[in-house]
Amino acid sequence: MIDLRSDTVSRPTRAMREAMANAEVGDDVYGDDPGVIELEERAASLFNKETALFMPSGTQSNLAAVMAHCERGDEFLIGDRYHILCHEAGGTAVLGSVLPRALATDAGGAVDPDDVRAAVKPDDPHFARTRLLCLENTVSGMVIDLDHMTTVARAAHDAGLRVHLDGARILNAAIALGITPARATAFADTVSVCLSKGLGAPVGSVLCGQKEVIAKAHRIRKMLGGGMRQAGVLAACGSFALEHNIERLADDHRRARDLAQKLQGIDGISVPMDLVQTNMVFVDIDPSDVDPLRTALNRAGILASVQAPRMRIVTHLDIDDDDIDLVASAFLACFRRND
Ligand SMILES: *Cc1c(COP(=O)(O)O)cnc(C)c1O
Repeated sequence: MIDLRSDTVSRPTRAMREAMANAEVGDDVYGDDPGVIELEERAASLFNKETALFMPSGTQSNLAAVMAHCERGDEFLIGDRYHILCHEAGGTAVLGSVLPRALATDAGGAVDPDDVRAAVKPDDPHFARTRLLCLENTVSGMVIDLDHMTTVARAAHDAGLRVHLDGARILNAAIALGITPARATAFADTVSVCLSKGLGAPVGSVLCGQKEVIAKAHRIRKMLGGGMRQAGVLAACGSFALEHNIERLADDHRRARDLAQKLQGIDGISVPMDLVQTNMVFVDIDPSDVDPLRTALNRAGILASVQAPRMRIVTHLDIDDDDIDLVASAFLACFRRND
């Protein structure tokens, strides 16, 4: 099956499984798993932060970060379409008693520094204390440039806030911008990065930042049930991914562009090219085409989240050039028959 639903679906390669099989392990709750220690050191150095913490998921990583930066009754500012606000089951409010306050995002997925400044509440017992700004990059596959990220973060810092970056796909952004991971995250006090998406590891994220805040996140990870024992087998995949799978994200980006160009000319669908900036392609389809397209793709061995008005296609480690051709032909065959 050619699985285009997400970059999370990629399977560990043989080489990654070998790294896993050869991993030395300890007990990470006792802090002596060498594989986890190696991954955390590698991540801290890659993102030029004091230290890092291996997390079971991006969701838990973001939650631990928000809870480490904020106390109960505090609030944080966040773009109104960002993952922590929209796709993490309200965890910050439910488990952290920390209130999200949504800021408008523009078409490119960015928030405005003026909105950040205006949203910070004065110190008054009527108000929740505004403590944190949560940013994201990439946002739905779109890249926000470093100048803008830095300007928004500065507005937050000047107002006394901390800045957390949900960098689930920050390495896609760094590759697209042609800058180092350290530069792409320099403005953030903490950054969470998914190992399980384009990087191709089966599990996990890393949360990077200064020692003090990461120590708090460590306690919160335990509280949330995220303490893992012989986690070195999983961390080995993360280390392997950070060593081998960053530069190749450019291939995923090229294939996404390639697919978008091939789909663009097909009658009956429309492909917003301005959204194709990393490894995602969006295709606008008519509701009446959803069932026929799903069937046609499935018959061709393609799994995709077919939905109207807009469906998302994601390229990743398990998608090669031939797959792109096959997907384009399956679309073409379907919409030709529709005429
Ligand atoms: C996938 C994702 C997460 C959450 O990661 P999980 O490992 O799936 O919990 C957080 N933020 C963004 C932007 C994501 O794309």
